[in-house]
Amino acid sequence: MLVKDKVILITGASRGIGRATAKILAENGSHVIVNYNSSENAAKELVDELATNGYVASMFKADVSSEDEVKKLFLYVKEKYGRIDVLINNAGIMKNSLIMMTKTQDFEKIVEINCKGLFLCTRFFSKMMMKQNSGKIINTASIVGVYGNYGQTLYSASKSFVIGYTKASAKELGQYGITVNAVAPGFIESDMTTNTSEEIRNDLMSKTALKRFGTPKDVAKVMLFLSSDLSDYVSGQIIGVDGCEIM
Ligand code: NAP
Repeated sequence: MLVKDKVILITGASRGIGRATAKILAENGSHVIVNYNSSENAAKELVDELATNGYVASMFKADVSSEDEVKKLFLYVKEKYGRIDVLINNAGIMKNSLIMMTKTQDFEKIVEINCKGLFLCTRFFSKMMMKQNSGKIINTASIVGVYGNYGQTLYSASKSFVIGYTKASAKELGQYGITVNAVAPGFIESDMTTNTSEEIRNDLMSKTALKRFGTPKDVAKVMLFLSSDLSDYVSGQIIGVDGCEIM
């Protein structure tokens, strides 16, 4: 029970990495708040499954790119729990295209969700953590935010934003007992990567030392470490979860 009784909000927890993270955190004793945007059925199924197994979870719909909706999410957490121990900024989208083919709408969408969403959630919930004088924030970056990737200028840049935001907010919030870290996953099998071509898959596999792709649970296990007291003196770090993938 590494996170017993901790109140933990995970954005984008209806599917993929967020869903696996919600499961492992609930199994380890926390009160999990499953945020979702469009996948209501998937979120409900998760919360029901956790409740059936005796774990504590609730769900709340909010588009993280909407200030009004993030405010409602914040008020929900404040009224229901009165505190927040861990915020996991996981919600994200990926869009791939060569620079010349990239649509302005795609630029705006990725900035709205991957960057503004992280900023809004951090701003609302860090205020609560500052009052508590404690808290942990975990952001979901990506290995491509560190190295860049062909055909992924927008997505890579949005994840570089996550990395910069993580390091700067760790410096700013440390004085309030708040740690801020990020995970930087490599290729993880989820809805986000299902349409990846065989050619790219083979190329990535050949560059991955562990010779397998990651699972959402591989990332969730690192989220568990960063959510628990085991990581109390870890802050401002970008932790790769990529099976030693050489970009
Ligand atoms: P996924 O399976 O596509 O799941 C994405 C999640 O984000 C869904 O739960 C979705 O919720 C949520 N989401 C999207 N837009 C949202 C919004 N506006 N407001 C609230 N929630 C929103 O993707 P994943 O692979 O689990 O990715 C999770 C995170 O890991 C992302 O930040 C992604 O960039 C990052 N990442 C993934 C990989 C990978 O290889 N898969 C690698 C590196 C980093 P709804 O369906 O309910 O809208």
